[in-house]
Amino acid sequence: MIPVVSKLPQTGTTIFTIMSALANEVGAINLSQGFPDYDCSPELIELVNKAMKDGHNQYAPMAGVLSLREKIAEKTEKLYGAVYNPDTEITITAGGTQAIFTAISAVIHPNDEVIIFEPAFDCYAPAIKLMGGVVKSLALEPPNYRIAWDMVKRLINHKTKMIILNSPHNPTSTILHKEDIDELSAIVKNQDILILSDEVYEHLIFDGETHHSMARYPELQMRSFIVASFGKPFHATGWKIGYCMAPEYLMNEFRKIHQFLVFSVNTPIQFAIAEYLKNEESYLSLPGFFQQKRDYFREGLKQTRFELLPCYGSYFQSVRYSKITDETDANFAIRMAKENRVASIPVSAFYTKGIDHHVLRFCFAKRQETLDKAVDRLMKV
Ligand code: GLN
Repeated sequence: MIPVVSKLPQTGTTIFTIMSALANEVGAINLSQGFPDYDCSPELIELVNKAMKDGHNQYAPMAGVLSLREKIAEKTEKLYGAVYNPDTEITITAGGTQAIFTAISAVIHPNDEVIIFEPAFDCYAPAIKLMGGVVKSLALEPPNYRIAWDMVKRLINHKTKMIILNSPHNPTSTILHKEDIDELSAIVKNQDILILSDEVYEHLIFDGETHHSMARYPELQMRSFIVASFGKPFHATGWKIGYCMAPEYLMNEFRKIHQFLVFSVNTPIQFAIAEYLKNEESYLSLPGFFQQKRDYFREGLKQTRFELLPCYGSYFQSVRYSKITDETDANFAIRMAKENRVASIPVSAFYTKGIDHHVLRFCFAKRQETLDKAVDRLMKV
């Protein structure tokens, strides 16, 4: 063997891969990794087929198919009031994770500090570390996981380069409120701090709440990379397609990396989504669709011994299990997958220090019969 110095010595395989593999191995209902168990719209599949038959099978432009970027610009202006130039400020990516990695690698230099809020989606910290950056994490606590902005202020110094936000939030299902935006705006005002805003669950928001996109606030928008996904809204996580929006000076740097990381993203799906987005119901119907699933699953869980945590957005429901056992969340999640045959994600996996509040995350983007079966099994836990 040739000696290799690991770039990520502490990093193992992602919890999503581990729990999905375990679910398959033991035949558990897989509520761990976030993906639907129902198919995407037949119309969208038709549109992809049509794009292929129409000959859209060669490289897309590096930044993405222009008609798709134009549709994204229109949608963003309509929903959030921000004007992005499709030529220079929007890039189609191979999913949210690639966009996040690209944005971080475009602007983070060795010793730059990046503030993240934990529990945090697991791709932020490794990308920061690979660039030689320093992760400054602020641990949030159940049940509300609210950001203590005075603590954020204390973390900021001349090395702070970026704050990473995620609303609706994975894994906690919380959202940023207007008060958070006001605090954040006050903190970054007159500072050279960038924002990476992971908004992949923007359309999965419930009870009529507002999605506080960075695009709504000019002071925040001018310093933000906004990352979005098509996999989540269009029930097609396997297509790995999303996008990044940022002001031109940031997008220039983003594209310098993007062109050598993936060059461009698969062409026919881009044509298909551009067409599909013409019908705004394709995304306006989503809060209702997912809220029905959230409510149904929560009603079911009320018959179990799990304690429900609040869920404002995303397709995840977290629960505390202190009344059931004092095992670690990782051990309990594994045992529950094997014995009760329901797979979940232990939320400690999203804390760099492995903080364990005895919370598990379930994905409810599932057919009603799957949720019924899962609840039946969870009632026996
Ligand atoms: N976003 C999905 C989740 O949180 C999974 C992403 C992945 O598997 N990398 O479950």
